[in-house]
This record gives sequence, C-alpha cells and structure tokens, in this order.
Amino acid sequence: MRQSLRLGHVAGIPVGAHWSTLVIAVLIGAVLAVSVLPQEAPGEEAVRYWLVAAAAAIVFLASLLAHELAHALVARRRGIAVRSITLWLLGGITEFAGEEARTPKDEFRVSVAGPLASLLASGVFFLVALPLRGPAVLVSAVWWLALMNAVLAVFNMLPGAPLDGGRVLHAFLWHRHRDRARADRSVAKAGQALGMTLIAIGGLELILLGWTGGLWLMLVGWFLAGAARSEGLVRIAHRGFQGWRVRDVMTASPEVAPGWQDVEEFVENVALRSRQSVFPVVDFSGRATGVLTMQALAAVPAEVRHGRRVASVSASLPADHVLTPDEDAEHIMRLGTFTGDLVAVVAEDGRVVGMVTTADLARSLQQAILRTGVPRHPHNGQRPLQG
Ligand SMILES: [Zn+2]
Repeated sequence: MRQSLRLGHVAGIPVGAHWSTLVIAVLIGAVLAVSVLPQEAPGEEAVRYWLVAAAAAIVFLASLLAHELAHALVARRRGIAVRSITLWLLGGITEFAGEEARTPKDEFRVSVAGPLASLLASGVFFLVALPLRGPAVLVSAVWWLALMNAVLAVFNMLPGAPLDGGRVLHAFLWHRHRDRARADRSVAKAGQALGMTLIAIGGLELILLGWTGGLWLMLVGWFLAGAARSEGLVRIAHRGFQGWRVRDVMTASPEVAPGWQDVEEFVENVALRSRQSVFPVVDFSGRATGVLTMQALAAVPAEVRHGRRVASVSASLPADHVLTPDEDAEHIMRLGTFTGDLVAVVAEDGRVVGMVTTADLARSLQQAILRTGVPRHPHNGQRPLQG
C-alpha cells in the first residue's frame, strides 16, 4: 500500500500512513466526541469532549501501530525482512520484503505477536483507568482505549485469511498436515466465509436494529472476503511458480526490431505478418535497447515511415524489466507491465532470447493453479479453490 504520509522510522522500519487513515481518525474522534464520551461522562463542555476525543483517537492509532510493530519486530527476529508498516482505513499493514515464514512455528509467532500486543495495550489502559481519579471524560476515554484494544485483539484473532487468526490457523494446519498449499486453500475459504458472515451480521444489525454500525461491519466483511479470495489466488500462484525459471514462462526467440532499420521496412517485412504486438528493440550487437509496440508504429503516419529509424519510435526499456532465463520465475510476479502488454525482456549474455507478455503471464498463472489446485486425495471431495 502506498504511504501518502511518511511518519518516520521506528527501529529502522519505515512507518507511514495512507490518506484513508485520516478518515478513520476523524470518524473515531467524532464518534467519541458526540456519542461515546457525552454518554459516559455527561455535563461537560463540547470543546472538552472534542479535545479528549482527538487525543484518544491519536493514542488509538498509536496502539494500532504498536500492534503492527509487534508483528514486524518478531518477524525480523525470525529472519524475515520487513519493508514497511502502513496505517490505513481498516487498521495497519506490515509488508515483508520477500520470503515469508519458513516454518509453521515462525508463522505462528509472527502472527500471534500483533494480537498479543493489542491485548497487552488493553491491559495497560485497564490498569491506568482503574485507579484514575481525574475528570470523568478523561477516565472514560482511557476505558474506551482499553476496550478498543481488547476488541482489536479479539477481532484480529478471528480464524480466516487475511486476519492474524487466519495466519495462526494456517500455521496450525501447515504444521499438522505438512502441506502448505492445502493450508493456503483452507484459510482462504475460511476468510471468505468469515467475510460473508460479517456482511450478514452487519446487514441484520442494520435492518432489524437500525444500527448504522452494521454498515461498518458490512464494509469490513466485504473487504475481508475479497482479500481472502485474492490472497488465496496469489499464494496458489506463488507456490505453483516454485521451481520455475523465467525460461519456463517466456516466449522464446521472439521477433525483434533492429533499432537501425527503417520503419517502413520493418512494418512491411515484420509488423504486418507478425503474431506479436510488441517487439524488443535491439542494437547491432543484439542487445536490448528499447521496446516497440504496434500502437507506437501505428502512430507514425504512413507517409513519413520511410526515412525514420525504428529506434526513434521505440520506448525505453527499464533496467529492472530485463531478466535472465535462469532467474526465479517469481521475479516476474513483482513486475508490472511497462509498455503495451510487455512485462519483461529476457536476455542472456547481452542478447535477447525471449520476452514475457501479459498473455505469457496469464497462461503461466493458470498452469500454476492447475499444478497446485489438484487435490491430493481426489476421493475426499476436496476441490481446488474456485475463482
Ligand atoms: Zn495483526
């Protein structure tokens, strides 16, 4: 997730916030100031409610951060590199730099750390609130923080991907059956079921009780179900790609466009009869220097094609989109397209030997799903995750 607001580094980890964090901060502040605090501690001036509410909202965001930091710090101790922590509309996200947990035990520890931190925070606020003899509005705010952190801990432990509880369940299933892919499918299904359940509960609250909070629950459920489904697919593809090289995915020996060639000549000899819609552009030594798309060719008026060089209508080729055939195919997954439907150019010893297009990627992903989606025990009725 993109960090629109960089908050700095904590223990060397970049911490930031997505703009949607503002929405949740304002929402929490408003609910506290106009509803929760006036109910718990009536008779105060409005400005005091708002001041305490603003402070409580900020402390609440800090406790969300503490939850994510707990994940991040435990992950780092287990040798998993942490890229960043970002707060957003529905909480926080800790992004890892690459390899996920290597063992079920590591996954369990990293996953359970966040809810434990929230539980700890809840306990601390509880201990602070208990003997607190200040203005009632302040005491109520601390009680609210204790309660919210407890809710955070419990909610995150619900057993479905992508929640922490889903990862804990994944670690347990992985440990028990020694089959990571099977655990992936199970928690993806559990996450989807959980999301649907929350949507149903939220809908019932809204319709039967008239609680607008039901809308929020429906939103969270909808997000959960979607995230569980897409995460499941990504993990399946990820596992399916294991052991694959770039050469297994690429289109080998594609037609290339010599940069020095006349555009008219290239159109007539190659472009008009080629099955490709994008061509790696090469120099005299066969080295990739750019990319030529059909669109770029079409943009050159027919009457000026003659006399223009292919290189002059080609787009540049970013260095990170040049792969070698023996690289791990997973590297492709991290790249987006950059021009036309080209994902990467594959070169060996400086010469173009292949290219990867979105069509190559789509076909390989389907193959990956076919490879991992096959049930191990067809008789037990277990079916691969349905799209
Ligand atoms: Zn968490």
